[in-house]
Amino acid sequence: MLCDDCKNKPASIFFKEVLPDKTVELHLCDECASKRGLLGTKKLSPLEILQKLLRQKSAQDEKVICPSCYMSLAEFKRVGRFGCAQCVATFDDHIRHLIKQIHQSDRHIGRKSSSGTKEGFEIYKLREDLKKALDSEAYEDAAKIRDKLKGYGVEDV
Ligand SMILES: [Zn+2]
Ligand SMILES: [Zn+2]
Repeated sequence: MLCDDCKNKPASIFFKEVLPDKTVELHLCDECASKRGLLGTKKLSPLEILQKLLRQKSAQDEKVICPSCYMSLAEFKRVGRFGCAQCVATFDDHIRHLIKQIHQSDRHIGRKSSSGTKEGFEIYKLREDLKKALDSEAYEDAAKIRDKLKGYGVEDV
């Protein structure tokens, strides 16, 4: 079946609306469906998802506090960066949880550009890379990653 609108591409979406006096049935291709606004909102990028998640407040955010600089998880979410190296360990589990949610929404996060990404997220990724580099005894890579982390103000890695 071809798209009812453009009569050109194969229809991939069947849309049915029951009105008081008639029933409208439409077979549309993706393009025409989105032109008509029937595809809902556009897919969020991983960064947008992260920002959305970071804006979500939970009751425990105020209670998770870095023992070194006393930054709370709520504060971290607000400013989007760690207060000190200890914060990374303190908030690790919570950030890991966020990252998991992002991975579930977008499997291709690793290939997307990281420009504009929150620093905290970058640090998290670098720490993961560092762990991997050390595990595979790639000490040269590990040193480079350490330097990058130092650039973010993380001394104790
Ligand atoms: Zn069409
Ligand atoms: Zn801290």
